[in-house]
Amino acid sequence: MSQRRLFVTTALPYANGHFHIGHIMEYIQADIWVRFQRMQGHDVNFVCADDAHGAPIMIAADKAGKTPQQFVADIAAGRKPYLDGFHIGFDNWHSTDGPENHVLAQDVYRALKANGLIETRTIEQFFDPEKNMFLPDRFIKGECPNCHAKDQYGDNCEVCSKVYSPTDLINPYSALSGAKPVLRQSDHFFFKLSDPRCLAFLDQWTQSGAVQPEVLNKISEWIEPGEDGKPRMGDWDISRDAPYFGIEIPDAPGKYFYVWLDAPVGYLASLKNLFDKTGRDFDAFMADPTTEQYHFIGKDIITFHTLFWPAMLKFSGRKVPNAVFVHGFLTINNGEKMSKSRGTGLDPLKYLQLGMNPEWLRYYLAAKLSSRNEDIDFNPEDFMLRVNSDLVGKYINIASRAAGFIAKRFDGRLGEVSADGDALLDHLQSAAPHVAELYAEREYGKALREIMLLADRVNAYVDQNKPWELAKQQGMDGRLHDVCTTCIEAFRLLTLYLKPVLPALAAQVEDFLQAAPLQFAHTTRLLGKGHAIKAYQHLMQRVDVKQLDALFEPPPEPAKPATVPGGEPIADTISIDDFAKIDLRIAQIVKCEAVEGSSKLLRLTLDVGEGRTRNVFSGIASAYAPEDLVGKLSVVVANLAPRKMKFGVSEGMVLAASHADENAEPGIHVLHPWPGATPGMRVR
Ligand SMILES: [Zn+2]
Repeated sequence: MSQRRLFVTTALPYANGHFHIGHIMEYIQADIWVRFQRMQGHDVNFVCADDAHGAPIMIAADKAGKTPQQFVADIAAGRKPYLDGFHIGFDNWHSTDGPENHVLAQDVYRALKANGLIETRTIEQFFDPEKNMFLPDRFIKGECPNCHAKDQYGDNCEVCSKVYSPTDLINPYSALSGAKPVLRQSDHFFFKLSDPRCLAFLDQWTQSGAVQPEVLNKISEWIEPGEDGKPRMGDWDISRDAPYFGIEIPDAPGKYFYVWLDAPVGYLASLKNLFDKTGRDFDAFMADPTTEQYHFIGKDIITFHTLFWPAMLKFSGRKVPNAVFVHGFLTINNGEKMSKSRGTGLDPLKYLQLGMNPEWLRYYLAAKLSSRNEDIDFNPEDFMLRVNSDLVGKYINIASRAAGFIAKRFDGRLGEVSADGDALLDHLQSAAPHVAELYAEREYGKALREIMLLADRVNAYVDQNKPWELAKQQGMDGRLHDVCTTCIEAFRLLTLYLKPVLPALAAQVEDFLQAAPLQFAHTTRLLGKGHAIKAYQHLMQRVDVKQLDALFEPPPEPAKPATVPGGEPIADTISIDDFAKIDLRIAQIVKCEAVEGSSKLLRLTLDVGEGRTRNVFSGIASAYAPEDLVGKLSVVVANLAPRKMKFGVSEGMVLAASHADENAEPGIHVLHPWPGATPGMRVR
């Protein structure tokens, strides 16, 4: 077989959170396929990247007090334990904010523009006058025009499920600042997907076998003419206005690519980054018509990957994907709420931290996966059964039953295989093309069923020949050696078939058997008479039900808040990040006056080290005369939103201690730092 050149990706995870089990399932699905292709001797380039851009990340970074770059880098730094932990063998992990992606996304755009497929249109959109930015739909809230539920998002109502546009909301407000948004016009760039050239290409590409039949059913309505004779495919708004964390659009100051324009280009950018590091020619690889390109994705991002992305590639003069492989979602216990002691989710990092074997999960998910876009379910009891009965009971046991005799009785060397053993091994070897075909088609569940049937055959042979009894019988050494050798040869073949799913275990077995790295081309070979193997060491534990209980145990309930004198309980626990949001500063009270018309308030003029003073009202008139406070230092919440009060605007809050009832003894006490603190210092 000639060597194929493959470029394989998984979907780029959005860099606003850690991996969940859905990511890990997709990576395992793709990794098994990649490992299988490598075992066929093909050149596979398997890459991924963080999807770094867009308004949600910009806003989350802002809230966390970080630059978007730092925010994304912190998320990226947490990826490795998951990928290494589950043996996901990416050749490269990059970021869509990398320099390669800026260049490639702009190149793609320029080519689409030169092809007459970019159009400018003026659209009207909500703008936040306080934050000075256009608001994404999810950041506009207001009253539902249908059921009048309050605080609904700009795209649909969570109470009555009505879908509408942000401009339909009653009393809309910005979820970022609370300000009333205003409608503003802006020029946006559109990719003309409704152009007859795009429709003709997509019609041909989607029917070329590049997508699964059930996926084609879903997307063909976008391309085929509907009842009115027109396809549903509209043009795609690919631009966003500054401020936006993204890639600047060439020759359009203040305009950025919508994150979904540059995200898939990140596949190419990650491959280019890999090739640049390893001295390979990216352009030549992608220009080679024999290079094959495959994307593994989830069913939630089908339109982007099977319509927008192939059209972007085609009309920027690039290779189009050979196939997009869509998988369904992973549910836990059929999405049912699990019993109280079992929680609801499967946290992949917790799985690893509990010391659970990552290959159990790889095996279990593979046993459930098919080539179809359909949901699969993780069921804890089923998981335990399949791992313990199949993987350990049927497969691992073959080695543990035979290897001891080889070591103790035959000096660790394999012997002669007689006719019945030969027949068994022939049967195992002849399954190779079918097993390979199932892996290639991503029918992992069927492949594992096939392999377990082979393991059943081997176990039946063991039960017939009972090596543990042969070992006790006089003059049966030759037969014992023969049977155990057959078992070890069979175990090697089964390991070869399981290697795409169980790469770490296969490496252990290769070492134990002193065998060359297992390849599909090696199925017709045997270790042979006289071959020395190492002493058997335990290869895999069984799943302990206690581990599963621990995995699904919900996080401990927060301790009941303690109460303190004065009757006010300690507030709910916050994270250090929550605390960091509060900017506390040392302030000097440069002026302090009574407020006419208020017996409660004092007007403080504060120096917070900013080169200006702030006006702050404080409800401490019952405890302090103005002259008590002038010249003193205190602590102020410096980033509290300014508050308009009856007597003027208050630009912060001075910290003071009291019981819940401020009038109760011993009253109110303004905080005062130890000597040496100066205005503007941060309190942390
Ligand atoms: Zn509603």
